Amino acid sequence: MRYALLSDIHGNIEALEAVVDEFSRHKVDECLCLGDIVGYGADPKECIRTVQFLKPRVCVAGNHEWGITGRLGLDYFNENARMSLEWTQKVLDENEIEYLKSFPLVYNSDEFTIVHGSLEKPEEFSYVSDKEDASRTLVIMKTRVCFLGHSHIAGIYYSDREKIISPKVTRLTLERGRRYIINVGSIGQPRDFDPRASFAVYDTGKNIVEIIRVNYDIKSAQGKIIKAGLPARLALRLSNGT
Ligand code: ZN
Repeated sequence: MRYALLSDIHGNIEALEAVVDEFSRHKVDECLCLGDIVGYGADPKECIRTVQFLKPRVCVAGNHEWGITGRLGLDYFNENARMSLEWTQKVLDENEIEYLKSFPLVYNSDEFTIVHGSLEKPEEFSYVSDKEDASRTLVIMKTRVCFLGHSHIAGIYYSDREKIISPKVTRLTLERGRRYIINVGSIGQPRDFDPRASFAVYDTGKNIVEIIRVNYDIKSAQGKIIKAGLPARLALRLSNGT
């Protein structure tokens, strides 16, 4: 089975469509969605519709889903995020809100775990941004690999005896006896200084994970953010991947 792992789409339909266009080249069988489909971007409805069309095996909830559906107070978010959440709440209809409400916080299969932020109190949406953060999720994991997003920074961590290693690679074979955390990066608002959309493909037969970057029409996404009256910073940051 070859899974595409999609995270932090953030209402950016141009980026999501560019990623979906790569599915046939990477022989994707099924999708897994790691949360934050909406927020920041100007196309939340189109992104929800596209995710539903893809029929992901599961979609876990991100902090933006929890913000929009009222499970997380808006004071959790910074000003730009709050403004975009309030705008998104107005744009979405009841069915779309109900769909976002239906996501679990964590999903476990025999082969992998998925969560938006971290396994340590997943309802608090902590970040896995460094080896210390990774170590706390690595000890909780019950499967060999955990996929997550939230920081918008693609990266890999694994435990090797007592040490946590974070190799600078984009393609990795999962080895027996090790546990892995794969941050798949963000489709709609990358923050690792690479503005291209980021997602991952996991081949469960070959035990290979690959992080893939895709160019998309950034100018179009930016134009819609400005036209919608959303904060200009949300458009500007797409150009430089911050
Ligand atoms: Zn996010």
